[in-house]
Amino acid sequence: MVTVTIGHLYPRQMNVYGDMGNVITLRYRLEARGFKVVYMPVDDAKDLKLTRPDILIGGGGQDSNQDLVQKNLVNNKLLLTSLADDGAVMLMICGLYQLFGHRFIVSDDYHIEGIGLLDLETVAGESRLIGNVVADSAWGRLVGFENHSGRTQLGAGVEPLATVISGAGNNGKTKDEGAVHLNVFGSYLHGPCLAKNPEFADELIRRALANKGLPTELAELDDSLEHHAARIAAKRPR
Ligand code: GLN
Repeated sequence: MVTVTIGHLYPRQMNVYGDMGNVITLRYRLEARGFKVVYMPVDDAKDLKLTRPDILIGGGGQDSNQDLVQKNLVNNKLLLTSLADDGAVMLMICGLYQLFGHRFIVSDDYHIEGIGLLDLETVAGESRLIGNVVADSAWGRLVGFENHSGRTQLGAGVEPLATVISGAGNNGKTKDEGAVHLNVFGSYLHGPCLAKNPEFADELIRRALANKGLPTELAELDDSLEHHAARIAAKRPR
């Protein structure tokens, strides 16, 4: 039986609006296809040196929680960057998405420095961007829930994950949502994102299997409930 390890970065501090569900979704979709799943909470990113998870998941959090994990994240910037350069599959949502970028500028005298693994920068706005988002990606229509003050601008070193149909996405202006660099994905979509977007979840799984030198063909699952949930969320925009 093939084992797939799912790392969960800072599960205690960075885990809001159902983000843990991304781990649960991946576990379900892997086990349903006969894989063994090992869950690896990552409270200290330096542990990634000893055990490299096949997929690393990170969630969102309040500004104060981003502050709590920031030092550990930045201390392990080179390790995370080298994992990404080696093709590690990662999905970072909202708060950690912002900190995988260069920095989150909360106010003139309060900057939370990120690791710059993703070429993007975030500046807090006066209002929060809250509600369901619908966005088109290479893996179909994505639906999720956003709640952030940060407005993220993408640099030339990343591609947008999706194009916004409704909702704000990265900044409410440029109509892009999330970012992609190599096998590293960032997104504002909570909800949890992968439960309502099974095709995107499977893309992460396929990339992780390819890294292990395994066939990437996945057995079909019945995703009617997942698609139903996505349709309902998409109909409740803000
Ligand atoms: N604190 C960040 C912001 O408001 C991230 C919020 C979140 O992760 N939901 O922009």
